[in-house]
Amino acid sequence: MDYFFNQKIAKNMSLLLNTIFLCMHIFFFIFFTYYHVVIMAGFNIFSIIFYFCSYAFIKKNMLAKYINLMAFEVIVHMIFAVVCVGMGCGFQMCLICIVCIFFYAEYFSLKMNNGKSNVSGSLLSALSVTSYVGLLFGMYGREPLYVIDDKVQLFMYVAMAVITFAVMIVSLKLMTLFFLKSEARLSRQAEYDALTGLPNRHYIMRHLNRILEKDEADGYWLAMVDIDNFKKINDTYGHNFGDKALKALAGILSDDKHDVTVCRWGGEEFLIIGRLMEATRPPFDKIDAIRGQVEEYELMCESEDADIPKRVPLTVTIGAAAYSNETTIEDWVSIADKRLYVGKYNGKNRVVC
Ligand code: GH3
Ligand code: MG
Ligand code: MG
Repeated sequence: MDYFFNQKIAKNMSLLLNTIFLCMHIFFFIFFTYYHVVIMAGFNIFSIIFYFCSYAFIKKNMLAKYINLMAFEVIVHMIFAVVCVGMGCGFQMCLICIVCIFFYAEYFSLKMNNGKSNVSGSLLSALSVTSYVGLLFGMYGREPLYVIDDKVQLFMYVAMAVITFAVMIVSLKLMTLFFLKSEARLSRQAEYDALTGLPNRHYIMRHLNRILEKDEADGYWLAMVDIDNFKKINDTYGHNFGDKALKALAGILSDDKHDVTVCRWGGEEFLIIGRLMEATRPPFDKIDAIRGQVEEYELMCESEDADIPKRVPLTVTIGAAAYSNETTIEDWVSIADKRLYVGKYNGKNRVVC
């Protein structure tokens, strides 16, 4: 489950929404009672009871039922309110901003029910729009049932306008935040390897292409690193242990002291990129030091079996190449790859530049 759209967040947002609606209806009850709008005072007693009971719905995770009933309550309440006190109090504006909440609810419902929603944002919005337009036509040239003082009407209109803007602004702000978080997570998933946390091949290819486009490739070397006899490690100690070895190697290669960019190229192969100092060939000593560090690493196996050695030998073979007017990144990588296989052929655990 997505950390940003889990049941707990949906529940907390519903609880907050319910509390806001409950407070609004308590205020409406006081307002209508004060101005003797009996029908609406009565309606609001029903609404207050509804929002109190809704806490139980939300606690039992019946969020879709809650939203559908809440939509019904808001729409009917606003129609009755406008018929009673007219458009001047601005109750109809709630029919506009509630649309944001419907789509949020649909989104959460979709996320939590694996793509199936029990709330239809479009349907509920259509009901809202129909009610709004119906009120515009229905109230045209008609006096409301109750007369409210002009100044009070203005105060209510301003309050409703502020609520409408607040709901829309908060909704859009939250949505922007959701988009940004999702995009950041997706691009991280697309460019980083989940096991080692290193950039993946896709990322490093973009990095290399940028270097090439800037005409700076001749200032770099790259090397392909391949674990020796990794299949045997997997077969002897298990796939999980193999994963542990990959993570350990990732840690060694990305050690800051090497000052190289590392990526997991695929499987048990890693690509490292470094800057050429003055020479035009890859720095053999530096790369061999990396190989030596891997060889010295104490990869420990926790097996209880006395026949299986505790320390598992971990070595790598490395093929390195500097850029020398090859036309593509693929050609450059391919030269390093060929040198890697020369190293494998000649006994492994060595560097070929
Ligand atoms: P060589 O010394 O010639 O490189 O031999 P090798 O055994 O290292 O190479 P080979 O290509 O025969 O085997 C690579 C193995 O790496 C096979 C595959 O199961 C394993 N492997 C690839 N990706 C992963 C992974 O993410 N986790 C684990 N545990 N194993 C992996
Ligand atoms: Mg390999
Ligand atoms: Mg290998």
